[in-house]
Amino acid sequence: MIQITMPLNFLGTVYREIRQALVDMGEMFDLLEQPAEVEDKPGAPDLEVDGGEVVFDDVSFGYEAERPILKGVAVDVGPGQTVAIVGPSGAGKSTIGRLLFRFYDVSGGALRIDGQDVRDVTQESLHRAIGVVPQDTVLFNDTVGYNIAYGRAGATQDEIEAAARAAEIHDFIASLPEGYETVVGERGLKLSGGEKQRVGIARTLLKDPPILLLDEATSALDSETEAEIQRSLREMSRGRTVIVIAHRLSTIADADRIVVLEGGVIAEEGRHEELLGRNGRYAAMWHRQQADEEEAA
Ligand code: ADP
Ligand code: MG
Repeated sequence: MIQITMPLNFLGTVYREIRQALVDMGEMFDLLEQPAEVEDKPGAPDLEVDGGEVVFDDVSFGYEAERPILKGVAVDVGPGQTVAIVGPSGAGKSTIGRLLFRFYDVSGGALRIDGQDVRDVTQESLHRAIGVVPQDTVLFNDTVGYNIAYGRAGATQDEIEAAARAAEIHDFIASLPEGYETVVGERGLKLSGGEKQRVGIARTLLKDPPILLLDEATSALDSETEAEIQRSLREMSRGRTVIVIAHRLSTIADADRIVVLEGGVIAEEGRHEELLGRNGRYAAMWHRQQADEEEAA
């Protein structure tokens, strides 16, 4: 009896550990999912970022050949500009982020950063140039310090703390019994959604990338926390090229340009006031959200 149950218990533990690891990886690589077929060209040089201009040049793409997701998308994000991508769920917004990372190759057109096709440079240098804050920052079952340091291997404690201060999470961390050594994540201290996003911001600040991708970074938060995190994101966006995928339109009203993606094509684009004046899809989305917010209040 004992001989049988012990190994089974043991297997149960191992199974849970493996499953947890897979869940962590799954969340981590939801955006960062990397199919094996994308490889560096032999002798590919590193990406050289100058101003950080990101150009989607007539990009077409489908996960499966028979089902196109993006159908000729042209977006030019100038150096230091913030371009917002909005649109209904399933429109292909996150796909744009995955292509930027070259987790897939485009099937038509090209994607260039400062004139360099992402297919021509090393993926390592490409990934170093882009910071991501996803909807849910994934925390490793490790210390909060490790979770921030993950943004850049070899960061010093001073650098980690400076990033945490800039992300306005230092005081909170310092108040924990074990400070930066406190273990967080599924098997450690559970952080709130807002605290997790601040750790994600600190991680990205430490990485200090010239290009930022914010994919619904605050859409899982309550509106008060969202407003606070938005301030930190705005701060972080200064001096960087930013592509922000947004659910709540109130968070992107000040973007340099707003692109409305629908069914894999650009349905509308312009600045907030411009799009409101056009009384089209964006205006309809905006008024619907305003009405929903008033109802909730
Ligand atoms: P959005 O972020 O605008 O909600 P996505 O870019 O995530 O939309 O997805 C666009 C479409 O691509 C959806 O129909 C989605 O089901 C599909 N899709 C996303 N990821 C994959 C994948 N790995 N394999 C196949 N289809 C996918
Ligand atoms: Mg998405």
